[in-house]
Amino acid sequence: DTLLSLRDVHQTYGDGEGAVHVLRGADLTIGRGEIVALVAPSGAGKSTLLHICGLLERPTSGEVDIAGERTARLADRQRTLLRRHRIGYVYQFHHLLPEFDALENVSMPQLIAGVGTAAGNTRSRELLEMMGIGHRATHRPAELSGGEQQRVAIARAAANRPSLILADEPTGNLDPATSDTVFAALSELIRQQNAGCIIATHNHDLARKADRIVSIVEGRMTDHIL
Ligand code: ADP
Ligand code: ADP
Repeated sequence: DTLLSLRDVHQTYGDGEGAVHVLRGADLTIGRGEIVALVAPSGAGKSTLLHICGLLERPTSGEVDIAGERTARLADRQRTLLRRHRIGYVYQFHHLLPEFDALENVSMPQLIAGVGTAAGNTRSRELLEMMGIGHRATHRPAELSGGEQQRVAIARAAANRPSLILADEPTGNLDPATSDTVFAALSELIRQQNAGCIIATHNHDLARKADRIVSIVEGRMTDHIL
């Protein structure tokens, strides 16, 4: 039951003498409920890969299928819709809206997607509970700890029941114990939603908790063992 499939993906930035061939035939398959850690040195192409999987960038060539949908031939408008409904993003810095409380932050992507306020709030409460921060619903980001902020960001990423969650260094600024809590919350969510997840991370302890570890070597995906 494949959720994400990349086939022979190439990404080249620039042209001629200055061209940078970041991806050179990358293949990757992710199934439902699967968490894949992406571990590679800086500059190897992790962000590029996440942006391509997240439909934020089009590859130079190759196929990217999300939940059975072939995205290469879609128009930008359709890609935006697919992104909004199928993909959730978590970043190292949560990018929560400071003037809104936790519940409102989680509800925002649902409102944008056209979900009504009442239904959105019910879903948001449920997600905050699942993340173990239900009691923080009315707190603004500045009133939350780093780990709590990151759990709100994960709840927000999951708000529209995405098929795929893409996390770029989601625990980059957290201490080890807090990282563990955040990862546990994220993995429970992935299982529960039967989604798929790619976590780009330099944290080897966290990577080892994933179902699988992959790397990028010379523009291709390789299985990785830590
Ligand atoms: P990582 O996330 O693993 O550090 P990136 O995907 O950010 O790697 O970058 C891989 C390479 O591609 C780097 O050499 C970077 O400078 C280059 N690169 C990334 N995005 C662009 C872009 N939009 N234009 C030109 N070069 C880029
Ligand atoms: P649009 O602005 O085209 O309507 P959305 O607001 O639907 O796109 O964006 C969907 C998701 O993609 C959001 O979680 C947003 O944070 C993320 N996103 C959009 N553009 C970028 C970008 N350039 N870099 C990183 N994330 C982005």
